[in-house]
Amino acid sequence: PLGNGRIGNPGGLVVPEIKFTKLFINGRFVDNVSGQTFDTRDPRTGDVLATIAEADKDDLDLAVKNAREAFDHGPWPRMSGYERARIMTKFADLVEAFIEELAALDTADAGKTLSMGKAVDIPAAVQIMRYYAGAADKLHGQPLKMNQDTQGYTLKDPIGVVGHIIPWNYPTMMFFLKNAPALAAGCTMVVKPAEQTPLSALFYAHLARMAGVPDGVVNVVPGFGPTAGAAVSSHMDVDSVSFTGSQEVGRAIMRAAAQSNLKNVSLELGGKSPVIIFDDADVDMAVSLSQLACFTNKGEICVATSRVYVQEGIYDALVKKIVEAAREWRFDTKANMGPQVDKKQFERVLKYIDLGKREGATLLTGGKTNGDKGYYIQPTIFLDVREDMNIAQDELFGPVMALMKFKTVDEAIQKANCTKYGLAAGIVTKELNLANTVSRSIRAGAVWVNCYFGFDPDAPFGGYKMSGFGKDRGVLAIDQYLKAKTVNTAIPNSPW
Ligand code: NAD
Repeated sequence: PLGNGRIGNPGGLVVPEIKFTKLFINGRFVDNVSGQTFDTRDPRTGDVLATIAEADKDDLDLAVKNAREAFDHGPWPRMSGYERARIMTKFADLVEAFIEELAALDTADAGKTLSMGKAVDIPAAVQIMRYYAGAADKLHGQPLKMNQDTQGYTLKDPIGVVGHIIPWNYPTMMFFLKNAPALAAGCTMVVKPAEQTPLSALFYAHLARMAGVPDGVVNVVPGFGPTAGAAVSSHMDVDSVSFTGSQEVGRAIMRAAAQSNLKNVSLELGGKSPVIIFDDADVDMAVSLSQLACFTNKGEICVATSRVYVQEGIYDALVKKIVEAAREWRFDTKANMGPQVDKKQFERVLKYIDLGKREGATLLTGGKTNGDKGYYIQPTIFLDVREDMNIAQDELFGPVMALMKFKTVDEAIQKANCTKYGLAAGIVTKELNLANTVSRSIRAGAVWVNCYFGFDPDAPFGGYKMSGFGKDRGVLAIDQYLKAKTVNTAIPNSPW
């Protein structure tokens, strides 16, 4: 039943050829044990895009067994860092070479705009791979303080078989944020892509093989969360699991880890990130920053700034401009706004918009679907939002902005921190001292001043509070995939 998916061009939309629909285990595309399949749909139309082999517990067992074999006996963890880096660099080169095809896959599968895939997602993934390739031969422990009769040092060992459970909002970037540091560390891995967006991950498995990544090192097993995902987090032979997604599933993964083999866990669980715009802000910059921070990728971003706090002096002027700018997002063939990833997310966001109205917030613009096909929602702005409203507290994961007014710096800090999340925050001001003071007071893993999405492969990224723990990006991220081993050697009769 696993055909090549559907190739076509419905409604003028390019649908890429879909080459890979089976599981990728031990360097090969293989049938699943049960023969069950699931459909992945194109959110631009709601039509079926491809039919994918559905991984279940038996398939996960097989993938983990092969990853274990590759770790215990295969070349990858034993290779020099230099050799691993060579293969990783080739992998990055191949991703770059296939950029058109890969961007088209994520567009059709995740509702991304093609231009964003080509300009942001895929180049960032390539850069991340090259960054960690550069680190692969620089992973070392340290000499320890010696005394007269002992000499010691630490070794950094790869942690073993790692499980990566990834979400649908950035299928490409998430694949590389998790896999690149794990590859650099010498781990072997089992990747469970989101059921909404399995296509590019399968293509990356193919490119890994082309690049020379040995069999069993990267295994890609698409399936559903409660079955395939849970089989990863509860597996006795998976040493570490890294997850990005919802808080609810983060809890389930921690429970599964605790109840199985106490595997390492790292969680990135989204946010409710604020942007604080002070009276002295450059107005045009504040407008474009808040637009991009909230509506980019149709608001399906863990750091999307769904709360915008504006100081009272520029509030009226800014609100008017922000609303005007929100009406300029396009859904046509030159679209810079794509559809929500699937019907479930589309309905969830619309439900929150309705709830916002019922909670007493004022709808200034948007609030409606766009067109009669696919899962498009207009950029939506609410005014008069209070901190105790659900739309000010819950992660909406859609193009919905809540505009709020503040008077003093203390009030801004207190309101910005008034959430269970702590992933990111933005500050817009020309005053350096103010920016630094507020940055120190925000309880979030990333603070961006006069910019947003200040991502860089070298800048560690991860949450405070209930946004999770552990880091993606930066040298710190590799530590999640390493174990420090202490080696002490006796030196009898040393004169020193
Ligand atoms: P989710 O957390 O259910 O799914 C993310 C990944 O976890 C998917 O691969 C899924 O198959 C897997 N999963 C689900 N249940 C699992 C389980 N019991 N054990 C192991 N793995 C499991 O996210 P969702 O339902 O697709 O989206 C719901 C909300 O989550 C969104 O509206 C958004 O608020 C949030 N979200 C956040 C991010 C982020 O980047 N932080 C990404 C996606 C979704």
